[in-house]
Amino acid sequence: MLGDRDLRGMVDKAFDRLYDDLSIKVDKKNNDRIHAYEAAHCTRLAYYERKDSLPPDNPDKISILLSHGMRKALSNVRAEYKADSLTLEVDADMLVGNEFVVRFEVVPQLPELPHPRHMLYLNACLFALNKNDGFLIYMTADGKTVQFSITKNNRMFEEIIRRARVLSTLLKDGKVPIVEPSDLCLSCKYYSRCYAREKIKEETADFIADLFGKGKPK
Ligand code: SF4
Repeated sequence: MLGDRDLRGMVDKAFDRLYDDLSIKVDKKNNDRIHAYEAAHCTRLAYYERKDSLPPDNPDKISILLSHGMRKALSNVRAEYKADSLTLEVDADMLVGNEFVVRFEVVPQLPELPHPRHMLYLNACLFALNKNDGFLIYMTADGKTVQFSITKNNRMFEEIIRRARVLSTLLKDGKVPIVEPSDLCLSCKYYSRCYAREKIKEETADFIADLFGKGKPK
């Protein structure tokens, strides 16, 4: 406490406001409008965020503040692609020379290959903005970067449209999408809804330790 003011509470509220401001804007009430971010990531997570969301945890907030805070400083281009009754929305980070679409990802370590979900997302931006080439730039907090170029690809676009349609249909039907195991799960706030997690019993732990020759000395 600072005087009679709750400093921690004030900082948390400021963080929450920033988080709301920086989060990708999704029209949660319109199931015919799906953001490419939702379709490229886990559709189950997107479903929970729309229908039965948990408040963001601190790692969530910090990751949004880092990545989306940086994005906010860029030119940010919003666009959409209509496929029958479905509208796929995108937010690209930059349009260079009105020709190249750029998307940044802040990561703890630079990857050797671009992540498929980031490629799906950038490819959706190319279609929505009607451009042929894009750059995916990975960046670490200490300023290291690596970049990959991608060219508009029909099959990848069909895949993100398919995923967006599945999400849209399941949202309308009130059915939770299947679990999509990936690296995202490890830091996902919905982990316990997707995976049963029970503490291993002591005798089971001893048995496993014995198997590897690490049992207690008899
Ligand atoms: S734990 Fe994994 S499968 Fe479940 S919602 Fe999160 S990212 Fe999706």
